[in-house]
Amino acid sequence: MKEIELQKLWFESWFKNPLLTTEGIPLTIIQPGFWNHSAGPDFTHAAYRDSAGKIQTGAVEIHLEASDWKNHGHHLDERYNSVILHLVWKSNSEPTITRSGTVIPQVELSRFLTVAIEDLNSLFPELPSSPLPLAKPGLCHQSFLKAPEENRWKLIEEVGWLRLLRKSKRLALRQKSVGRSQSLWEALAEGCGYGRNLLPFRALAQRVRAGELIGYSATTRKAILLGVSGFLPQEIHLEKNSSSEKQHEAQSIWEQWWRAQSLWSHSILPFHAWTLHGVRPWNRPERRIAALARLIPRLRSLKEALQKGGRLHFQRDLAHLHDPFWESHTTWNSMPQKPSPLLGVERIRDLEINLYWVWQIIEKGASTQSQLISHRMTPNHKTKLAWARIGGTAEIPPEKQTILFQQGLIAMLQDFCFQDVSNCSRCSFPHWISQQSVQEKPLSSTLCIEDYRAAIKSNINDLEKEL
Ligand code: SF4
Repeated sequence: MKEIELQKLWFESWFKNPLLTTEGIPLTIIQPGFWNHSAGPDFTHAAYRDSAGKIQTGAVEIHLEASDWKNHGHHLDERYNSVILHLVWKSNSEPTITRSGTVIPQVELSRFLTVAIEDLNSLFPELPSSPLPLAKPGLCHQSFLKAPEENRWKLIEEVGWLRLLRKSKRLALRQKSVGRSQSLWEALAEGCGYGRNLLPFRALAQRVRAGELIGYSATTRKAILLGVSGFLPQEIHLEKNSSSEKQHEAQSIWEQWWRAQSLWSHSILPFHAWTLHGVRPWNRPERRIAALARLIPRLRSLKEALQKGGRLHFQRDLAHLHDPFWESHTTWNSMPQKPSPLLGVERIRDLEINLYWVWQIIEKGASTQSQLISHRMTPNHKTKLAWARIGGTAEIPPEKQTILFQQGLIAMLQDFCFQDVSNCSRCSFPHWISQQSVQEKPLSSTLCIEDYRAAIKSNINDLEKEL
């Protein structure tokens, strides 16, 4: 038995239900979760009903032996705080305790197989090395297939449009309340934090407003942003024998921060606001902060690009940001590496969707929709996962690899799949699809917007009741 085979058995539900924990407590699995093929727990968004009838939702981790939890360092890793169930082939009486101190129920899966142990080999004659499935098709897959061909794709695009409309409404409100330049600054900062650090980046841009940095040198801007973000002094203890380049960078940042800190000391973010676990080295917040500092002189040009609809101009301004130290370092103490752009292709693409196109909706209104229907975007993990659920395969058809279609897939995932604790059985999205696809009038956002909101609300009410 390999760990990947055990994961596959779990994914394919080859176990009795309810299960018994190693303490003899019954629990009923409701949904096994989404198979995570990258760093972090093996399955996310799993749900089970505990012996008190309460639904527990979170991640599931799978090991051959219970002691692997500790051997793999999960007891020290905050990403594993979300684990609600530890599934092991063999329990060796080692308790499972997360970094936050929670004791996690453990189940010895070898006791609950629905097939004879000697038949297991035939289940994995040639386990594919790649690609492993992301998710099983959800209930909405059938409703999607039943919808008339011409409506089917449009429905997802409508959902994508609604998602972008929601974003544009938020940005327009922010423009009104803090002005266009500051709202642009905040949106750029949020883009630097996409994924795990959006909130601290937003807080940073609100605490150090763009207008307050104008007139300072690039080093001073960087020192103020690093200082207010809470990255000084914790992250600036240089190792002995550090290169002269590191010493120069650290010294110049310190000199500037030393002078400026009295003005900013009341605004410093707590260091624990940042998530550093699981963040790829080139995406470390310190590098993004260095990028933000370099964006200040470009704000006027970026605003012009947004107002005039200059997408390539917008991309160019974000792509060519130079910081000699942070282009080749991931942390203060990392070894110098081959230079890498401060904002990579993926980050610029995300900013293009969430800032450039959202701004275009504010500027040009509904006419933007027709551009987004045809504008291409490479699928990512989230859109492939969503498509596996509704489309039944992870391969999004090439002609649907567009911004609007994939925004629709992300909206479906966030508004429904991530809220669901019933393994689809009580999700209102399949009903919404059936309802919309029989509309006699052509689909439009005004037609489906209220029904869509009602469908989301019904799912959330359901979740609240259950939890
Ligand atoms: S939870 Fe809802 S939207 Fe997600 S796969 Fe299931 S039925 Fe589809």
